[in-house]
Amino acid sequence: AATLRLILGDQLNPRHSWFDQCDDQVVYLLMEVRSETDYVLHHAQKVLALFAAMRDFAARLKAGGHRVRYIRLDDPSNRQSLVDNLSALARHYQASQVQWQAPDEWRVDEALRQWAQAQPLQTSMADSEHFLTDRHELPRLFSGRKQWLMEHFYRQMRRRFELLLEADGSPTGGQWNFDHDNRKRWPGTPAEPADWRQPHDHSALWEMLQACAVPTFGDPQASQLRWPLNREEALAHLEHFITHALPCFGDFEDAMSSRAQRLFHSLLSFALNVKMLHPLEVVRRAEEAYREGQAPLAAVEGFVRQIIGWREYVRGIYWSQMPGYEDRNVLDHGLPLPAWFWTGQTRMRCLQQAIGQSLQSAHAHHIQRLMVIGNFALLAGLDPKALHQWYLGVYIDAFEWVELPNTLGMSQWADGGIIATKPYVSSAAYIGRMSDYCQGCAYDPRQRHSEDACPYNALYWDFFLRHQERFGKNARMGMAYQQLRKMDTQELARLRERAAHLRERLDQL
Ligand code: FAD
Ligand code: SF4
Repeated sequence: AATLRLILGDQLNPRHSWFDQCDDQVVYLLMEVRSETDYVLHHAQKVLALFAAMRDFAARLKAGGHRVRYIRLDDPSNRQSLVDNLSALARHYQASQVQWQAPDEWRVDEALRQWAQAQPLQTSMADSEHFLTDRHELPRLFSGRKQWLMEHFYRQMRRRFELLLEADGSPTGGQWNFDHDNRKRWPGTPAEPADWRQPHDHSALWEMLQACAVPTFGDPQASQLRWPLNREEALAHLEHFITHALPCFGDFEDAMSSRAQRLFHSLLSFALNVKMLHPLEVVRRAEEAYREGQAPLAAVEGFVRQIIGWREYVRGIYWSQMPGYEDRNVLDHGLPLPAWFWTGQTRMRCLQQAIGQSLQSAHAHHIQRLMVIGNFALLAGLDPKALHQWYLGVYIDAFEWVELPNTLGMSQWADGGIIATKPYVSSAAYIGRMSDYCQGCAYDPRQRHSEDACPYNALYWDFFLRHQERFGKNARMGMAYQQLRKMDTQELARLRERAAHLRERLDQL
């Protein structure tokens, strides 16, 4: 009797111990299903890249001597749901066992768990052999602590994996965190590394998606998609990043520019999240670059922190808060997303760039996601769940375990401050400092309430006024309230009026 092993679209790790040996009794299953394309409206490139990478993975498994059953979206036998296909395949292969690797999404985890309960078959879940921490580790680690600080978690991870650590246990360079050095504006030099990524032609796959009427948005770029399809390509991307971008990663980590979309970011999130790359190999490679004098410590430390710190930490938050995390909305925000989230057509240049880039390439870097798009959404009071669904759909690297805590928690403070000790909000001043967006914008970043005043400004002050009861006593937000206290009642009224006016016509901004 056969054993079926399900491989999900974000489990494309050829080094998983499942594949150590070939066994004729084991059939590996990969499936393209509508339940996965349709749970949220996705960017075309996300669906294309995932299906193309799954097909590549299946072909390589077959070439390696494994038995593989690949169900395409347009396969007549496809029942368009993971579990319905599993039931049919279990019958077809007269399987005695069905196994899967731990899903990262609560939704899929739950669907498989419930399906298994109703089966006469033997079922089991294997480790995905990818993450550095256990799903449920965070609550244990922080037990008894009021605030679950990322920095505390990160230092433990540095010690546990002996990363950037000296023999006596102290952090390399005498500091755990070099964030302070990593906040420079990009003056235009050094030049952004050229896009080295080999384009792939996915026109045939795109035609199939269209024939099946899979709803998508964003630019498909089906004939020249540049996301890695397999581990070999992902490793080549890693090497290019280490040589050409890592040396400047730290300096310009928070910078934004209309002349350089990617700056010195790694673009490795897709390869990491679908498990083509292992987080430890990525950070050890970066550490090696530092030890060999190829990249400065501040850059390497910043990069390592994103991966062994933030990435693992948000995953722990996700599992500690699910189910129900996606419904949190402590600030009671509920405005629908303005229409330009789907077109990029707004006169606010920062948003036009950040959203335009997201629609064009299915990627934007962290500060664009947090301090341009997320910041605006929070200041305007957009519905956090609708925003979460937009982020989950638009980004190539968006999988709920990592996207939801970042969007709902870090960026929208909708969880009441589990991740962020204070809301990430800023006026035009921050965007002007970190980017060239304000130059040439239709709005004036120095004005607060004239008709051409930057919308961020009035919305920023109004945010503090609206949420005074909640944040007025938060020491970390004291400065904003101090400034507000210096404003006269007429100024406060004008700010409120301008903010209300903006909120009424978000679509037209
Ligand atoms: P780099 O800047 O080169 O960073 C290196 C790696 O660090 C990334 O590839 C990623 O794996 C990891 N990383 C960095 N920051 C974070 C973070 N905050 N949380 C988790 N991992 C991090 N990242 C996703 O992978 N998927 C998402 O759906 C996602 N949604 C986000 C939503 C919002 C509102 C915000 C503020 C951030 C989100 N991030 C998400 C985190 C981050 O923006 C992306 O990981 C990053 O922009 C990916 O590009 P990169 O590979 O060039 O990253
Ligand atoms: Fe964005 Fe305001 Fe600057 Fe325009 S002026 S780019 S809207 S921050």
